[in-house]
Amino acid sequence: MLIIKGIPASPGIAIGKAYLFEDEVTVEHRQIQRDSVKSEVKRFKDAVKMTLSDLDATEAKVLHMLGKQHARLIEAHRLILKDPLITQEVARLITDKLLNAEFALSETLERVNKNFEKIDDEFFRDRRHDLFDVGKRLLRHLTRQERKKLVQGSEPAIVVAHNLYPSDTLHMREAHIAGFCTDIGGKTSHTALLAQSMELPAVVGLSDITKQVKNGELMIVDGEQGLVIANPGSEALDKYQKLQRQMRQAEKFLEKVKDLPSVTRDGRVVSVQLNLDITEDPAPFAALKPDGAGLVRTESLYMNRKQPPAEEEQYHLYQRLLKTFPGLPLTIRLADLGGDKLADLGFDSSGKEANPFLGLRGIRLLLRYPDLLKTQLRALLRATAHGDLKIMIPMVTSLSEILGVRQVLEESAAELTQEKIKLGRPPELGIMVEIPAAALTLDTLLSEADFVSIGTNDMIQYLLAVDRINQHVAHIYDSLHPAVLRLLQLIVQATHKKGKKVSLCGEMASDYRTTPLLAGMGLDTLSVTPRLFLRVKHTVRSVSFAKSSLLSQTALMLPTCEEVHKLVASAQADENA
Ligand code: PEP
Ligand code: MG
Repeated sequence: MLIIKGIPASPGIAIGKAYLFEDEVTVEHRQIQRDSVKSEVKRFKDAVKMTLSDLDATEAKVLHMLGKQHARLIEAHRLILKDPLITQEVARLITDKLLNAEFALSETLERVNKNFEKIDDEFFRDRRHDLFDVGKRLLRHLTRQERKKLVQGSEPAIVVAHNLYPSDTLHMREAHIAGFCTDIGGKTSHTALLAQSMELPAVVGLSDITKQVKNGELMIVDGEQGLVIANPGSEALDKYQKLQRQMRQAEKFLEKVKDLPSVTRDGRVVSVQLNLDITEDPAPFAALKPDGAGLVRTESLYMNRKQPPAEEEQYHLYQRLLKTFPGLPLTIRLADLGGDKLADLGFDSSGKEANPFLGLRGIRLLLRYPDLLKTQLRALLRATAHGDLKIMIPMVTSLSEILGVRQVLEESAAELTQEKIKLGRPPELGIMVEIPAAALTLDTLLSEADFVSIGTNDMIQYLLAVDRINQHVAHIYDSLHPAVLRLLQLIVQATHKKGKKVSLCGEMASDYRTTPLLAGMGLDTLSVTPRLFLRVKHTVRSVSFAKSSLLSQTALMLPTCEEVHKLVASAQADENA
């Protein structure tokens, strides 16, 4: 039995026979004659055209299978195909260096890849998989090598590959593939995102899994823990088969919880809400029937543009959201720009800070550029006429920042009233608690804040001094560190003491294994990523608050992360027993 640890890319358990998938395109290096330059460039341009028409066909397929949101991936691929970094560079290499088109292309792709490798941010670094996906389609047209097809076998198969591109993933459903694992790849690559949407368990970043397993060997892909097991012993196989059955049963139950309230078995309400992005189409999420949206991120509205979004554009999006979730509370966060969310708007600090996560970010940046803050607040105030909108301030360190926002909020409301624009009820103004200083002084901050939402993604990095996007210290970033638990408890108690509500909207809330612990600590709301919404809600409904409180009290007394993890795992095993 061989057990290898990788990166969990898509949850679930898959069991099947290994299917080693190699789909390399061989590219030969030729020197062309000067008088063939024109025809070689034309050959490249024709391949681009053929690839564009492939993309049209793929787009139709993605739209049908996975919806509009994923179809945007195809648009990104079209942009890559039209990017002068590729098109002009290939033409230049053909013309100046007399290289054949396919070799010129593979050289260009390698060069662009080298630049991608230098990017620190995992999400943007992972975009190179899209570059190679498109590049490979182009190379196939140029070399007339047909793409290998995933062959449908009689038994469930686990694809084992060096790397897979998003378009490979799309074919897996047709070929009845149970799951996949790869040598390379990241958690936020489109391959991983598509696998999650298609509910295909996957583990990536396994280094050399392709060398370690043979075709036809029995394999288990544990997308929950990021493990791959080849040739499992009978005990491991039994354990995973049982787990798989339990998960399938749980999936069936999950659909049913949509129409049921978010309460524990002993009647404590723990509201489960959604984390959304303002630029995403909200319509599909309404089907989940959430209790509200606990975090609506607005940063993406400011990305990839030279001018910030105007009041009208913002108002349109805010009111679209409110109309999609009539009557539900929606907590929209002021733009949390800076840190790893860089906007291209020409801020003094942009790209020039040694420690951007400790720099001009969130409310600090908005108070430095008050016009930006005012435009957003005016748009939000106008949208209050359409529903229950709450405003949340990101990255709060001290009371003066809340007072600063209140002042601009009041000025904006007065202006809008003068302009005879109809407003709804004055919105509640809450704060994100992400900085330990805010957690430790909550009693004072709560004199000006109406509610609290804990942003554990950042809070953990500031508390443990671990950069949230630095892979070298990723093993220290642990949401179950005793210090994190103690700070969470302190925040919940301080907020309740003032008679106000506290939510948790960091990724930790979406980890259903910690739901009993968080419910037991007394959190009023868990705001989660839509894909895990039903799982978290189901978990809330299956625990008892009394038992969860005891669990959290025990966890708070444990001295190490390892012991807390063990306790959480054993509590989950008890629930499943
Ligand atoms: C957080 O920090 O937990 C959070 C929800 O905000 P973001 O991930 O957008 O920084
Ligand atoms: Mg944050």
